[in-house]
Amino acid sequence: LVSRLTPFTSTIFAEMTALATRTGAVNLGQGFPDTDGPAGMLEEAQRAIASGVNQYPPGPGRPELRAAIAAQRAGYGIEFDPDTEVLVTVGATEAIASALLALTEPGDEVILFEPYYDSYAASVALAGATRKVVSLVDGERFSVDLDAVRAAITPKTRAILVNSPHNPTGTVFTHEELAGIAALCVEHDLIAITDEVYESLTYDLGCGGVPHLPLCTFPGMAERTVTISSAGKMFNCTGWKIGWVCAPEELTSAVRAAKQFLTFVGGAPFQPAVAYALEHESAWVTALRDDLAAKRTRLSEGLAAAGFGVRPSAGTYFVCADVRPLGFSDGAELCLRLPERVGVAAVPVQVFTDTPDAWKHIVRFAFCKKDEVLDEAIVRLHKLA
Ligand code: PMP
Ligand code: GLN
Repeated sequence: LVSRLTPFTSTIFAEMTALATRTGAVNLGQGFPDTDGPAGMLEEAQRAIASGVNQYPPGPGRPELRAAIAAQRAGYGIEFDPDTEVLVTVGATEAIASALLALTEPGDEVILFEPYYDSYAASVALAGATRKVVSLVDGERFSVDLDAVRAAITPKTRAILVNSPHNPTGTVFTHEELAGIAALCVEHDLIAITDEVYESLTYDLGCGGVPHLPLCTFPGMAERTVTISSAGKMFNCTGWKIGWVCAPEELTSAVRAAKQFLTFVGGAPFQPAVAYALEHESAWVTALRDDLAAKRTRLSEGLAAAGFGVRPSAGTYFVCADVRPLGFSDGAELCLRLPERVGVAAVPVQVFTDTPDAWKHIVRFAFCKKDEVLDEAIVRLHKLA
């Protein structure tokens, strides 16, 4: 294995899921739902297979899906031309990798916020670029230190990768934070790559919470933002791997140049099904969001009752907790022992950082599970005290 990939031989999700399976633990590690997406969408996929939608789709993705993606983005007040400014990818993961491969030269710097989703560091490395990491601040909520972002920018900085709602912390970047990031991108002529896969999962709206705000809607950002999202989290179909890129034509065609030699195309019969869901299932998505908001509260309260120092989660599938109040000092050590000891799997946040010591007290739990699964995990976690 080449040296630039040796730090990335396994993923924490595969490791913790294997450990959970081996020990029979409740798996609150890897974030995937344990219920299916909307029935109409599932039927559309079956219909597509039965009616012969089984060969290579067009390079940019099937037209009905690109049209549905453009229509969904129009809901935020942004226009994308489905023919030239939308590209269907094999999940957000491929979109992120393609964007980095297409838009950064070896030696360019890419700013990431830590903790960062694991594929970011690996994809930056694949591109031969260098990551510059800015820590979120662990306080009343996990917040963005704009001075630290400014300090991380150098003449070599090419791009910044912004993930809100944010995995693993569950923080949703505020208008002020996004406006500050946008101003720095404009000032320093940076490309923004945004990972918005949790765009439909923001909670606490109407109680001081923050709605999803696409970075490309901020002044000066439309022409420099590669917006990425995916159907997995929107419609409970993480295994379908249908994602997309929306960006100005020049950026979209650059990303497409990389994407076509990674996978060429993907998921033909899922594409019309996701198009259907984008067009017809917005009420289902709202219900999913409300359901997940309640699960967020259920697990957060349960963890607090079990003695964890729970951090607020305003979006995503995840809540983070401080393990120190329970007398532990190292989340990685705890997560390795947790499945055997009490029968629950979780993910240590330090593995998503370049400064593990600063994050080793934080562990991530997924709440995208049936209530009885969450309740069982909480009962088990009480045995830690
Ligand atoms: N970005 C984030 C923040 C994620 O949590 C995930 C996975 N759930 C992805 C990207 C990957 O999305 P996809 O499965 O569509 O590739
Ligand atoms: N995004 C999911 C998580 O953060 C898992 C994705 C994966 O297994 N790569 O848990």
